[in-house]
Amino acid sequence: MSVCITRSFTSFMATTVARRYSKIGFVGLGNMGGHMAKNLLKKSYKLIVYDLNKSAVTNLVEAGANSASNVAELSKEVEVIISMLPSNQHVLDVYTGENGVLSAAKKNVLLIDSSTVDPSVSQSVASQAQKYDLRFIDSPVSGGVNAAKDGTLTFMVGGSRTDFDHAQSILEVMGSRVVHCGDVGMGQAAKLCNNMLLAISMIGTAEAFNLGQKLGLDAKVLANIVNSSSGRCWSSDLYNPVPGILPNVPSSKNYEGGFGTTLMTKDLGLAQSAATRTQTPIPLGSLAHQIYRTIIAHGFSNKDFSVVYQFLKGKN
Ligand code: NAD
Repeated sequence: MSVCITRSFTSFMATTVARRYSKIGFVGLGNMGGHMAKNLLKKSYKLIVYDLNKSAVTNLVEAGANSASNVAELSKEVEVIISMLPSNQHVLDVYTGENGVLSAAKKNVLLIDSSTVDPSVSQSVASQAQKYDLRFIDSPVSGGVNAAKDGTLTFMVGGSRTDFDHAQSILEVMGSRVVHCGDVGMGQAAKLCNNMLLAISMIGTAEAFNLGQKLGLDAKVLANIVNSSSGRCWSSDLYNPVPGILPNVPSSKNYEGGFGTTLMTKDLGLAQSAATRTQTPIPLGSLAHQIYRTIIAHGFSNKDFSVVYQFLKGKN
């Protein structure tokens, strides 16, 4: 008997959790959002899209989406809204601005913001959303434009367990990993901490390999040693910043593609403000922020973040 009850409860839960939302709104169809929205269309989700950029909208309409003429119009029509916007102020404008999502959406709509922003922005939007009987989760991503295109992003989600469960099947269409990181804002916290560590380890890797070469050491020999020793990290092993060590990484393609210095600098800026607000010392994170800002000032704004190796090496 108890087995029966457990089974029927499990199947009830599965139905609830795998609930299929019929209409999804998507705001922000740029480098990332455009591909993410297309992946939803490929899985037959009905999409209503909006972007300030008309050609981005046309691109999605040609792929099968309907378009709205503003955020409010989109919000009135759908059960779920996903946003993929550049930064803090864009997210605040779209959600809390006049004629924004919060004032127009129907009750109980699930709001999923995948932009990378300050955790406090996600928390502020979530608490305002609650006043309108709306549900908000943050779900920033790791993985760049190619992962967005291939549907292999990692989503780091902050929000209630129930909202996470409801969002999971949608996020799985656009990503290969969907992780619940805690309450609202914790997805952003995970993303910022990871990227700060990545920047620091990339700078450290570039520094060590530059010194090795100045001492006369072959970079491939050093890579072989480091990657089987205690200095090993993702940047040395799978994304080495020295051209020619790994064939398919940006450093071997003139630092084209990959994760740009501008986006890394943005994320380090967010980590810096979060650390200032919480009075947390991040000496290396702060230094990494300044190094990437300097790299941008030296004309490397369109290059992958591993270009820090070239920057340290100088012109010789
Ligand atoms: P993007 O600039 O290419 O796209 C953002 C889109 O938002 C643009 O099309 C813009 O027109 C639109 N937009 C801005 N304000 C709007 C508004 N008020 N209403 C409607 N649309 C508006 O940016 P992206 O590269 O797609 O990045 C989006 C987010 O994802 C950022 O927060 C970024 O940090 C994060 N991210 C990017 C990458 C990457 O490799 N590009 C990787 C991980 C995370």
